[in-house]
Amino acid sequence: MTQDTLTPMMAQYLDIKAQMPDALLFYRMGDFYEMFFNDALLAAAALDITLTKRGLHKGQPISMCGVPYHAAEGYLQQLIRKGFRVAIAEQMEDPAEAKKRGYKSVVRREIVRLVTPGTLTEDALLQARRHNYLAAFAQVRDASALAWCDVSTGALHVSACPMVRLGPELARLAPSEVLLVDGETDTVRGIIQDLGAAITDLSRASFDSGSAERRLCALYHVASLEAFAHLDRAEISALGAVLDYISLTQRGQLPLLRPPVQEKLGGTMMIDAATRRNLELTQSMGGGRDGTLLSVVDRTISAAGGRLLERRLANPSCDLGVLAQRHALLDHFVKNPPLREAVRLKMGAVPDIERALSRLALGRGGPRDLGSVRDGLASATAVSGLLAETDIISSLDFSALRNGQDLCARLTTALQVDLPMLARDGGFIAAGLDPDLDHARKMRDDGRSIMINLESGYSAETGVQSLKIKHNNVLGYFIETTSAHAARMMAPPLSARFIHRQTTANQVRFTTLELSTLETEILNAGARAIDIEQGYFQNLCEMALQNAAMIAEIVQLLAELDLSAAWAELAVDLAWTKPVLDATCAFSITAGRHPVVEHALGRNRHAAFVPNDCDLSQGETPAIWLLTGPNMAGKSTFLRQNALIAVLAQAGCYVPAARAHIGLVHQLFSRVGASDDLARGRSTFMVEMVETAAILNQAGENALVILDEIGRGTATYDGLSIAWATLEHLQSVNKCRALFATHYHELTGLAGKLDGLRNATMTVKEHDGDVIFMHEVQNGAADRSYGVHVARLAGLPAAVVTRAQSVLQRLEADAVSNNRPQVMIDDLPLFRAPAAAPAKTSEIETRLRQISPDQLSPIEALHLLYDLHALLPSVPKQG
Ligand code: ATP
Repeated sequence: MTQDTLTPMMAQYLDIKAQMPDALLFYRMGDFYEMFFNDALLAAAALDITLTKRGLHKGQPISMCGVPYHAAEGYLQQLIRKGFRVAIAEQMEDPAEAKKRGYKSVVRREIVRLVTPGTLTEDALLQARRHNYLAAFAQVRDASALAWCDVSTGALHVSACPMVRLGPELARLAPSEVLLVDGETDTVRGIIQDLGAAITDLSRASFDSGSAERRLCALYHVASLEAFAHLDRAEISALGAVLDYISLTQRGQLPLLRPPVQEKLGGTMMIDAATRRNLELTQSMGGGRDGTLLSVVDRTISAAGGRLLERRLANPSCDLGVLAQRHALLDHFVKNPPLREAVRLKMGAVPDIERALSRLALGRGGPRDLGSVRDGLASATAVSGLLAETDIISSLDFSALRNGQDLCARLTTALQVDLPMLARDGGFIAAGLDPDLDHARKMRDDGRSIMINLESGYSAETGVQSLKIKHNNVLGYFIETTSAHAARMMAPPLSARFIHRQTTANQVRFTTLELSTLETEILNAGARAIDIEQGYFQNLCEMALQNAAMIAEIVQLLAELDLSAAWAELAVDLAWTKPVLDATCAFSITAGRHPVVEHALGRNRHAAFVPNDCDLSQGETPAIWLLTGPNMAGKSTFLRQNALIAVLAQAGCYVPAARAHIGLVHQLFSRVGASDDLARGRSTFMVEMVETAAILNQAGENALVILDEIGRGTATYDGLSIAWATLEHLQSVNKCRALFATHYHELTGLAGKLDGLRNATMTVKEHDGDVIFMHEVQNGAADRSYGVHVARLAGLPAAVVTRAQSVLQRLEADAVSNNRPQVMIDDLPLFRAPAAAPAKTSEIETRLRQISPDQLSPIEALHLLYDLHALLPSVPKQG
């Protein structure tokens, strides 16, 4: 490729690239994946690798860069994280084959896979303890639906999804890629972009529900989809798009997709995207895992157990029957420490069978994946042995754990203990399984000793002690003797066996039929051994895949046991209790704690978490607590801990409290803290109002609402009015359980007027002018905010703090002399203050305090005088 003509290879490249114009093309050339043209520019920048040039195209040098084949996964990971999709074109034949077609012929290449965020299967590209969902949103007439699939485990789900539920549902699933029909509205796109998922547009044909139905029936070998559930057209359409896309990206190969599970809306606690973000359930505000509820409660050992835990936390259940089952299993492990310990020990040996099986189904697996199935099944049998020794009572039938014994035995007999990654490397089938394989391996490995044996046999037969079997590249193996001895071998009867090949100056060389047969065998033994092993590999894969449903059930049971034992461990370790759940509107927590804050404080020997009670029910009706208290007193912590307790209880976990009685929470809303969304053109206050609007419009009687400092982002009177009206609306229209924290002490006056509204406050103690935060929630209202005190703690300059204190005193005195109620003073001072005069005076005062007159030069003093003069109110302009 040195001239400006399209070489056959470049023509092939452009041809392949045209099939997937939107993806970067990894074009396999020997040991490298090469990228050309614009792909090379993009990839070199994204991966920080060297950009080179190769030949010309249309008069321009062709940009090129490449990554080594064996290190491709690392580069793929970086590209996928940066939002690229990568098509992989492999060499589909041996270059030697291509050469046979003529000197200029090009090795046949084909795209074998399109790597996208939602269709990953490699461990290196995935997070072991997180699902990786591909979702599709479909609308058919008035109905809309969401389907989602984890290609790496084969889980497939579908649910009706009205537009208003799209945001919360996607927030719950956190898919990495969402499929939309070409031309989908900006509203839908906006919702997905907010969640940070990649959007992929597919044609209408991919969403066609008619062909989707046919595809689904064919895939699951059923005559009608009724076999699964009553799916509407939108659900079928969404499922069809998922299947179509998987087939497109995997080039026709489908992973082992389990039959679609239809999820009913309302089965789980509804938690919208903002609430999930605010509560940091599975992802922190910063995007990581640290500081999340998940990070504190995850004591699972196996990867599948970790994924189940993430699912449970993201989808707290609203089904009392299901929750009773989960808690009963957990109880069992709490009460039986030896069993818990033994099960957890076994979990350490459970590999990620789901993902291994999925790779095998896609033809991307290796012997190690078979080994994972073997080891997983062996652990399942061992765990079932442990359970058999106890009186575990569960509605789950754990006897299925033993179903994998036969398969496990077959795999154990067939496979070596330590396994290579790739089947083509061989060396994974156990010795003694196949006599042919054993023989081939012997020939491959013991060629030298076989020849030594043969050599001594020939020496004895001919009586020529100095006879040797040697090897060179021209003759291969041959028998060599000196000229003196050769005559005997060239005369009958030996001449009948020893065939003369060559005579050199001092030596004569022979061969025998036996030697040349052995030679061929030795030469081919390696390849033959690999061939035999490959045959076994295919058989064993088929056997594992035929048992996929049985394996999936075992995986599910193991994950359930891992999670229950893990949460039991957590409950015992941290003294958590089993919550009482029912269908009332109770929310009574005794000595509740915030699991994440307590965990963080746990590292500090001098600080202990102060437990607090909360009761949001008033007889048969829900109640609202209005929480006031100083800054830094623990209001936000208290609000969140109660929301988290509800989530934990309905995930099936015990809770950080001495006692908890919770009437099922069907919707959880939280509006906490201030953040802005400049990317979408929303200011801090706008975000706050949008989130508050969503709560007031949606919260029903079974909701739990957490509102922290509503109305803080605007002028004081506006904010107070909004907070006031919001509180009234929650009490009279939403009629739900709510915790409302505020600095507007004026609102505490509503407690006597609104039924079910109770004042609570965080206590502080004052000591020698210092404020001590007790972090205790008590009945009643706070009298002040101690904001200036907190400002000092935060390290505001002493001058500013002193000044703020004096301003505050003056404003309070002013309000009292005007006979205003004290409560109005704390939060509405700036509007009562006489113009801005005190502030100007303060700056002059501050400047004067900062200088030392003795150290000023005359000119500095003069400048200062000018500066101070300029600070005076309404100074007439000079000149
Ligand atoms: P602000 O009004 O300034 O937002 P706040 O009242 O909401 O403050 P938090 O943010 O909840 O206060 O708590 C401040 C800090 O106090 C927390 O980071 C935590 O370290 C500590 N804290 C809160 N609650 C408790 C508690 N119950 N026991 C011990 N420490 C606590």
